[in-house]
Amino acid sequence: MLTLHTKQGEIEVDSGDFSSRISGFYRKSREERISDIAERVDLTPEDISILGSGGGLDIEVADRMIENVIGTMAYPFGVAVNFRLNGRDRLVPMAIEEPSVVAAASNMARLMREGDGIKTSSTEGVMIGQIQVLDVEDFEKAMAALGAAKDDLIELANQQDPVLVRFGGGARDIQLRELETEAGKMLVIHLLVDCLDAMGANAVNTMCEVLAPEVEELTGGRVLLRIISNLADRRLVRAEAVVKKESLGGENVVDDIVSAWAFADADPYRAATHNKGIMNGVVAVALATSQDHRAIEAGAHAYAARYGHYGSLSRWSKNGDGDLVGVLEMPMAVGIVGGATRTHPMAGLALKIMGVSKARDLAEVIVAVGLAQNLGALRALVQEGIQHGHMRLHARNLVVMAGAEGDLVDRAVEALVESGEIRFDKAQEIVKRLKG
Ligand code: NAD
Repeated sequence: MLTLHTKQGEIEVDSGDFSSRISGFYRKSREERISDIAERVDLTPEDISILGSGGGLDIEVADRMIENVIGTMAYPFGVAVNFRLNGRDRLVPMAIEEPSVVAAASNMARLMREGDGIKTSSTEGVMIGQIQVLDVEDFEKAMAALGAAKDDLIELANQQDPVLVRFGGGARDIQLRELETEAGKMLVIHLLVDCLDAMGANAVNTMCEVLAPEVEELTGGRVLLRIISNLADRRLVRAEAVVKKESLGGENVVDDIVSAWAFADADPYRAATHNKGIMNGVVAVALATSQDHRAIEAGAHAYAARYGHYGSLSRWSKNGDGDLVGVLEMPMAVGIVGGATRTHPMAGLALKIMGVSKARDLAEVIVAVGLAQNLGALRALVQEGIQHGHMRLHARNLVVMAGAEGDLVDRAVEALVESGEIRFDKAQEIVKRLKG
């Protein structure tokens, strides 16, 4: 067991020597699913009551989080099963309103675990703060002065966050850029800060702000913006998996997936949708853990366009055995301290279910889910088309609406899908026939 310190007190986090392979999880009742998870992760009665509380966020807490609050809004909170990262099994909570996403993640994680599972790695949690300096007369002199004062500037930045420094993080380096713009040439300073377990925006913004007067004095210029960059290309995560051709239906499917990926990598119209599929998984885990998902999205799309052409975040290829190899590398600025990560009770619970006690670990789980999600979409697209899976889920909703319960649900779904007429009147007719 690992211990996570949260505002709600200490949470015991399971160290994870269990199997996340839960066969037929989607067919179980909600109670059965909770008990399956509780078997693997030590859920307390309080955790279980949070899960059934309609979103877990107290209105008084919500009222303190943002402005003008009049209510709260809940999302479905599901758990993707079958994930194995670096030899360790993980259950992955996902908050999302779109059907098929959790199912696809679980299915693809199952195919990936038939190989060696997903291998992940990450850099340190370094974020970039930007300081924009205008009206610099002598760039060479200004840059030399900044270079000479580098250690003092880093020291000054670190004085703003003794907690971060005490845990081993803090400002690490300063880099200088000359930027030609429509409004003339400007000097841009990058402050590199290791944010450890925090997403880091507040920490980095504070540091940039405090450096401004010193920077003005050293450069003779005028500081305008002092703000974090969401292009977190110093905080990268890589997830990689090999999927056996047999698991996908043969080498021709592998070839088609590679061609589908190449289309996305070459064409921004396709890349936008391809990357959106990746973000289905990424944002769902980010939401479940109360991350700033706008920061993650901004970073992802900027990274996808880093060579001046918007392309695929992932890369799919065929190896010598004819198996499919997928790699997803992207920035992942997430935290398990700070922001809303400690105020939302569901976020703490999500981390506990995931067995996460470090921001880097969370970042790796998120990118692994993005990779699985990407494969789910590509496989569906090259095979039966994306609507097929959606229609099964739609059929499920229809038969439940038509009054099917228990075992009857699956039988009614089968019959409805077979009929080829996935409509409510047809669902009613089938449920009536099967009941009678
Ligand atoms: P924060 O300031 O709430 O918490 C981070 C602080 O926690 C650190 O500075 C450190 O002092 C402390 N800390 C304690 N234990 C730590 C550990 N183990 N590792 C690291 N720090 C530890 O939050 P933040 O992460 O600096 O900022 C995140 C918030 O900023 C989010 O809510 C985000 O929405 C918001 N924000 C984002 C942007 C942007 O992305 N452009 C801009 C402004 C604000």
